[in-house]
Amino acid sequence: MKCEYCEKEAVENIYGRYYCENHFVKYFLGKVRSIIDKFGINGRIAVALSGGKDSSACFHSLHKLKLDLLPFYINLGIESYSEICQKKAEELCNSLGYRLHIIDINEYGINLADEKKPCSVCGTAKRYLMNKFAYENNCKYVATGHNLSDVVTFALNNFMNANLMNFRGNRPYLEGKEEYKMVAKIKPLYWLKDKECMLYVYINRLRYAEEECPHAISAPTIQIKEWIHEMEGKKPGIMLNMAKSFWRLEEMIGSKAKLNICRKCGYASYSKICKFCKIRKR
Ligand SMILES: [Zn+2]
Ligand SMILES: [Zn+2]
Repeated sequence: MKCEYCEKEAVENIYGRYYCENHFVKYFLGKVRSIIDKFGINGRIAVALSGGKDSSACFHSLHKLKLDLLPFYINLGIESYSEICQKKAEELCNSLGYRLHIIDINEYGINLADEKKPCSVCGTAKRYLMNKFAYENNCKYVATGHNLSDVVTFALNNFMNANLMNFRGNRPYLEGKEEYKMVAKIKPLYWLKDKECMLYVYINRLRYAEEECPHAISAPTIQIKEWIHEMEGKKPGIMLNMAKSFWRLEEMIGSKAKLNICRKCGYASYSKICKFCKIRKR
């Protein structure tokens, strides 16, 4: 098959259109650009790198769009996995001319190996530390590598568990709240699927870790993701529609939970002491 926009061989079919490598990259950057433009993103962005393909694609695409970036990596202290991922993130930063900032979760007295629910603790710690890093380094935004596949999986998982209050954050942009030291969050890959992020990383020869987190291997979300992709294969476009539906649903539900300031650390919290400080206390 030939590319729809030039004479070159196509490498990908997206919603019925064929793209060569060059035009696929243009398509990809166009999707990222659409989010930057829609929400008027302008200012320094702290970019969370995990060493994985999505955050690598996110960082590289924002770099291509010439935004002001500050990349950081949270070392979660998970056996060899965290070390391999850190190395890949460092290599990517070096190749693009950035210095990678490292945050070590062990410095906060947290050891995931001791936790009964490591994924839940990890999620809380990551969210907290990302925001703290961005806030302390005068960034207006934190960008993460969540893509369309992740967004839909996350929302469906909450749906399946009757957990509607957890919908917050299921959109490409979440505004910050200065009085709560909350930095705005952006998901530049919101309109791009797993497969497309993989292809972008491949075409641009980006460094990334292929390893999966040892804690996440048995997570139920992996099956949900497989199932969604199977459906998408039969009916292209349903993931896009699901993301739009969940986004609207989130706006309709709104957030009733009242925000406070944590008495211990001074960052935002839904109770007197924030979840992160509670974990540290244990
Ligand atoms: Zn082309
Ligand atoms: Zn706190």
